[in-house]
Formats: sequence, structure tokens, C-alpha cells
Amino acid sequence: MEDNCLFCKIVNNELPTEFVYESENLIVFKDIHPQAPVHLLIVPKRHIRSINDLEAKDEKILAEMIMTGKKMAKEMKVAQSGYKLKFNVERGGGQLVFHLHMHLIGGWVNK
Ligand code: AMP
Ligand code: ZN
Repeated sequence: MEDNCLFCKIVNNELPTEFVYESENLIVFKDIHPQAPVHLLIVPKRHIRSINDLEAKDEKILAEMIMTGKKMAKEMKVAQSGYKLKFNVERGGGQLVFHLHMHLIGGWVNK
């Protein structure tokens, strides 16, 4: 838990947020400012600042994030039409919340 980290607060239920999915290692919830009909955030429970801070031991959580993205895309019915899995990395890459997260964005087309 990192002081003053928004997503650590969400992980610890200090900021009421409905989880779409939860596992031992990560949570999934809806983005508060959706950029598309489907916009979820896939967030490891452990605080990691950004992709830049990943270490070899984090390979497992990274794989789980991507596999969860795939699963959630199916559940949200955008798997077939297509979607984006996106990491913003540091300020210049558009990262605003410095707790690792992956965006699942889609739902622009129905088929
Ligand atoms: P990024 O720009 O990659 O750091 O993305 C951070 C995302 O977190 C943005 O798309 C925000 O809309 C989203 N966000 C910020 N606060 C909340 C919140 N309390 N609940 C859900 N999503 C949030
Ligand atoms: Zn955090």
C-alpha cells in the first residue's frame, strides 16, 4: 500500500468502487470517465508504479492481467468485434494514476 495512491485505496476498499472481477492478485473495475462503451481497468493489488518498474518476478502478474483482459473482453461481449489493451507509461505516455493498470477499451462496433 502506497500513501496517497488512488488505486491502492480502491484495492483496500477505502474508496467505494464496484469490482467487475476480483482474483487473489488483481481487481477489475469500470473507468470513471469511459472513452468507449466498454472501458475497464485491470489493476494488480500490489502497488507497482508503472511498466518501467516491472521486474522479472512480476512476469506472472503481467500475464494474469493480459489473460484477464481477454476474459473480460469475452464477458463484455467485445471479444469478436475487437478491443484495445492499453498501458500508458509515465507522464509523457498519458499516465495519470501511478499504480500500474491496463485499460480494456472497446464496444464501438456491434459485430
Ligand atoms: P491513466 O491515464 O492510464 O493513468 O488512466 C487512469 C484512468 O483512471 C483514467 O482513465 C481515469 O478516468 C481513471 N480513474 C481515475 N479515478 C478513477 C476512479 N475513482 N474510479 C475509476 N476510474 C478512475
Ligand atoms: Zn498504489
